[in-house]
Amino acid sequence: MAPDSASPQDIENSPGLLEELAAGVPGILFSYWLSADTTRRSFPFISSRVNDLLGVSVQTLKHDARAMSSLLHPEEVSGLLPSLLESARTLEPWHYQARIRLRDGTYRWFEGHSLPRRLDDGSTLWFGQFTDIQQHKELEFGLRESEAEADYQLRFHKLIASLSSDFINSAIGDIDHEISRFLARIGGFFEVDRVYVYRFSEDLTRMTNTHEWCRQGVDEVRGTQQDVDITGFQWWQQQTHDVLQQNRVVFIEDVRQLPEHAMAERQLLAEQNVAAMFCIPIVVLGRVEGFFGMDSLTVRSWRRDLSDLLILVANLLSQALERYRLEQELLNQSILDPLTGIHNRRYLEPRVEEMLAHYQRTGEGFALAMLDIDHFKQVNDVFGHLAGDHVLQRFAGLLQDQCRGTDIAARYGGEEFVVALADVSPESASSGLARVLELVRALEVTFHGQAIRVTASAGLVHVTELSPTSLSPDSLITEADRRLYRAKAAGRNCLVDASASSRL
Ligand code: GH3
Ligand code: MG
Ligand code: MG
Repeated sequence: MAPDSASPQDIENSPGLLEELAAGVPGILFSYWLSADTTRRSFPFISSRVNDLLGVSVQTLKHDARAMSSLLHPEEVSGLLPSLLESARTLEPWHYQARIRLRDGTYRWFEGHSLPRRLDDGSTLWFGQFTDIQQHKELEFGLRESEAEADYQLRFHKLIASLSSDFINSAIGDIDHEISRFLARIGGFFEVDRVYVYRFSEDLTRMTNTHEWCRQGVDEVRGTQQDVDITGFQWWQQQTHDVLQQNRVVFIEDVRQLPEHAMAERQLLAEQNVAAMFCIPIVVLGRVEGFFGMDSLTVRSWRRDLSDLLILVANLLSQALERYRLEQELLNQSILDPLTGIHNRRYLEPRVEEMLAHYQRTGEGFALAMLDIDHFKQVNDVFGHLAGDHVLQRFAGLLQDQCRGTDIAARYGGEEFVVALADVSPESASSGLARVLELVRALEVTFHGQAIRVTASAGLVHVTELSPTSLSPDSLITEADRRLYRAKAAGRNCLVDASASSRL
């Protein structure tokens, strides 16, 4: 310390000047020395502040600089010496950022910067300062984190936009395929092991896994997850109930941490090796249809702030299912006959077209019959139009019952119906149709206590009976209709086929 009496001019030469200056500087002033053979390093000068801050004495550092390097964070140790050697070689200023362990054991970021000078013996001496840059680093990391976060959110929003356009552009009937693709992309984004959709039964007592995506190497569980009784999963039901009330997500980060009374749930999840999961209900047309969820086979912490985004994902699924349901309904409306519930003419023609193409490809024959109820006008006249409707319904039901899965029964118009029989010989088609007419005769329709009996006539054509050059749904239907006309002319209640004979 300079004596109080010293004049300003004396300060310059006072012995404690350096220490006094250093004490007034934020950070640690130093000079650092590296021997020419680079084996020895020391701090010929370092502010006493180093002792307060790091708990290393100035004396120790004057002797050997390694006491300082041992305080560096392991991640910054390896870069230190190369940076010094580089600066010694080029005599360019030295800069280095590192975390240094403080007296209390915590780390803080410092930046060292200093200017080198070469001494006569080939050693190097630097003059500089360590500055505390902790705040600066925190800002930098915060910024980087929020950039990463913004990037994550952006990627997620892009994913949602692309998935939603995929759904919108998907064709009717593609929905299963679209949902599977959807699950795969979501699974990839969230880096989970399984993504799935479950559907509840009407009475909410059972659930079925309808779609599942598994990461490579992860076992599928869908096979065992069909029509599972969920009445035993009390805890789960409470959760889904709460979730619906609050429109939130059920997160389970560690299945082992589930409460005692969730034993059944814990067991089920353990069987599937699930360590963590979350799920969101799917609501279609205002009704809970099921849920969408993801499993992780390792314990992990879900980002709960993703809740809103996940609800967005579930909504996307709900909307897709809703649209699919509506489209299906419209489709059914356009191809089903509203009175009888069987297919209509619009559905019939393209199906017959398919049967023809199949026949031309494989030679597998099929037959088409046109049926018409005899004296149907009288049914209406005698019993009333509603009774007539009822007869039409029973008649259609009978035809439908006689069809196999690959056959088609359709109402062609009024009291005329078409039956297309797949993969039959002309003989078995004839005997099949004869049997149908027999069943019609035996059909007992009662309407308001009155018994109504009907008969029908039919014209039958087998695809092999037409010239291959004029084959079309139209030509088949026309021929069947001609034969039907002949059956009517022959006295009704009979079948006309290629043999032109009418069969009673
Ligand atoms: P045929 O033995 O020659 O076939 O005589 P038919 O009386 O059955 O034939 P026609 O074509 O003269 O009469 C068909 C009747 O079917 C006339 C029409 O009012 C009735 N009909 C058509 N569609 C419906 C319907 O949806 N409900 C009811 N109740 N009657 C219908
Ligand atoms: Mg008729
Ligand atoms: Mg008719």
